[in-house]
Parts: sequence; structure tokens; C-alpha cells
Amino acid sequence: MRQTALFTKTRREAPADEVAKNAQLLIRAGYVHKEMAGVYSYLSLGLRTLRKIEDIVREEMDALGGQEIRMATLHPSEPWRQTGAWEQVDVLFKIDSRTEKEYALGQSEEEIVTPIASEYAPSYKDLPVAIYQIGQKYRDELRAKSGIMRGREFGMKDMYSFHTTQEDFDRFYEIVKQAYLRIYSRCGLVAKVTEASGGSFSQKISYEFMVLTDAGEDTILYCEACDYCVNLEVAKVKEGDECPKCRKSTLKTGIASEVGNVFDLGDRYPRALGFMYKDEEGRAQYPIMGCYGLGTTRLMGVIVQAFADDKGIVWPESVAPFQYHLVSAAPNDPEVVRYADALYDDLTKKGRAVLYDDRDVRAGEKFADSDLIGISHRIVIGKDAIGGKGIEVVARSTGTVSRMTREDLLAT
Ligand code: ATP
Ligand code: MG
Repeated sequence: MRQTALFTKTRREAPADEVAKNAQLLIRAGYVHKEMAGVYSYLSLGLRTLRKIEDIVREEMDALGGQEIRMATLHPSEPWRQTGAWEQVDVLFKIDSRTEKEYALGQSEEEIVTPIASEYAPSYKDLPVAIYQIGQKYRDELRAKSGIMRGREFGMKDMYSFHTTQEDFDRFYEIVKQAYLRIYSRCGLVAKVTEASGGSFSQKISYEFMVLTDAGEDTILYCEACDYCVNLEVAKVKEGDECPKCRKSTLKTGIASEVGNVFDLGDRYPRALGFMYKDEEGRAQYPIMGCYGLGTTRLMGVIVQAFADDKGIVWPESVAPFQYHLVSAAPNDPEVVRYADALYDDLTKKGRAVLYDDRDVRAGEKFADSDLIGISHRIVIGKDAIGGKGIEVVARSTGTVSRMTREDLLAT
């Protein structure tokens, strides 16, 4: 895409009320637009990166047999009343309609997915099943000061699975945990798995996936010698204690962000919403249900927090909005412009995603914007490239400059 055609522009200042680094940078670089505290629109660049993240998540969920659907986000109030959540869930947005009905905005989808699954899985032969979606969630959060890491409207992948036996559930639970760890690592992050009590709805074990970042809202205790990690909120151990798992090191405290979690819900929702299947003997049984959440927009915010430097955003290649940022460094030199134009055409023809800074502005300004936008590789076309010295390719993360021939660049 030519930058002259990109409708967003970079800006020097973020809104004065925006305190979170992730949102400040994303707004300044033109990825997101703030509508109000906790609500952001995703613009051209922002949507490209969000889709990259969603595609990684989708690939991993499809690989473990998840089936993608898109559930309604405007919900009838009845199932929410049936499960008790209408009264109990403080973040639930409730809407009064002029039809005198009440609706809920989806903050999670157990109330919707359970009746759907029930309709299509009347028999043990139809189970297990895992259904997921990637979409918007709405929560009336009290505190929304973490930029896109805590929204009142935000992106989430939520998967739900139904099983006939605890054994089968446990098997699948482990597969999902491994897939989650792959997702974070493909996004350039290291996630720690914490064991936590199952929150307000379940006494069962749940796992949270935590990424260390100062911008997080959770405190964890973890061991540097092994993978032991717990959320401080529920911990029976404290900082400095010997690691109860490996006994080789002492526990450290860290600030972290929860980028996902998985719950064993037992039969709570099937019971509340009347989902029974017939087992092999023809008896009616409640399935065992799991839910698996992953905050896609929060993940994007955590990635920004994790890698940004004083010049701007630094994306890992896997989620950058474009593969290359092509910059013509001498916009007044017709020869340079011709060369850069041709290279842009050739790269694009080869299927590379290129943002081409073809604007008529000073090279210094282009480089500053390019640093802010944070695409992993910057290709610089100046006089020397035409002179045969090779094309300069700058790595955004390290600033390392390498020289390549036009042919090599097109071949890599
Ligand atoms: P938190 O403790 O941070 O409020 P949660 O326990 O309420 O999270 P879940 O309801 O399990 O989270 O949602 C699944 C995932 O969705 C979380 O792990 C997190 O990554 C993401 N998430 C939850 N709330 C928000 C929010 N307000 N904004 C952005 N992402 C969120
Ligand atoms: Mg919450």
C-alpha cells in the first residue's frame, strides 16, 4: 500500500487522557482511534495487525479440531437469568428496549453456546465437540486505564468444549493449554501458566496465561528455575519461599497481564440451561464443559508494551501490519522515485505485503514515522542504492543495517 493512499496519518501527541503506553503509541501511529475510555476503533494498520493475531489463533484452534462460528453479541436476557448471571455478573451490560424487553451484550457466550450445542449434540456419538469464535465482547469495567489491554469493548477468542467423561475433558484441556503456549510464542511472547481457583462460577482448577509486563494488572509469583507460577491473589506461598515444585530456586514477584485462561466448568451450564445427551445405555447425562478465552486485543497491547522502544512500536514479524516498510529517501530525485516505484511493484507482484512511503516529505521525517509504525524490516532507497552499493535493509528491533542486491531482496 502506498502511504499517500493510507488515510491515517501519524501524530506527535496522543490524547492527553491516555496514560497507557500501548494506546499512546497505537494512536500516534494511526493503528487505533479512541472513542472513549476503554473503547477503540481499529484503523487500517490496526486491523491488519489484529487480523495477523487472529489468524495465528485461528490456525491453532482449527488444528486442535475447533470449529469456528460467529455467535450473536446482542443476547436475550432469558438464558442470563436462567444461569443467575443476570444478577451476579457485575460487568454485564444490560439494555432496555422500547419493545419492553431486556437484552444483554455478550461479555462471554456460555449462555448462547450451550443451547446451540445442545441442539446439535443429542447423543454421546456427537461428543466431544469444540466450538469457537473470534469477536467482540462487552464489559462494564470500572477501570479502563490500560489502553487496549482493558477495554469495555474488546476482542476475544472464546472456545467452548463439551465432553462425555472427565478423562476426555482432561485430555482436551491439555491440548488447548499447549496450543495457547504456541500462540503466545508465535506472537513473540513467553507466557507463564498459573494455576488458579476457578473464579466465581466454579471450584475447579483453571489456568491463566500470564505475560510479564509492567503494564499488567496481575501480580504473580514464579520460579526462574522451572515453570512454577501462581497468581498472588490465591497463593499459599510468598516471595522468597523455596519453589514448591523444583526446590532449586526461590519465588520471585512479577507484574503480569492475563492474556488468556482456560476453565473446567463442569456441568454447571448444561445443568442451568438443560443440555443433556443420551449415553450408550440411553440414559440422559449432562456433558462436562470447558471454556477457553484469549484476549486478542489485549494480546496486541501486550506485544506493544513488550517490545516498544523510545522511538515507537516494534512488532515481531509475525504480527507486523506489513512485511516491509519501503522508504524512498530522496523524494525529489526522479531517478530514486522511479527505482522505488519499480521495486514496490515487483515486491507486490511477488505477494509481499509492503507499505511504501512515497510521500513528498524529508527522509528524517519518514524514518521517524517508520520507527513509530514499527514494521520489522525497512527498505531504504537512496542515491547509493541506484549507484550499485546495494539496498539498505534496516531491522527495526536492533537497528542493524544490511545491504542487499535487488535480486536477493526479491528472492528472499
Ligand atoms: P481480567 O481478570 O483481566 O478481568 P477475566 O478473568 O475477566 O480477565 P475472562 O473473562 O476469562 O477474563 O476473559 C478471557 C480473556 O479475555 C482474558 O484472559 C483476557 O485476556 C481477555 N480480557 C478479559 N477482560 C478484558 C478486557 N476488559 N479487555 C481486554 N481483554 C480482556
Ligand atoms: Mg474481568
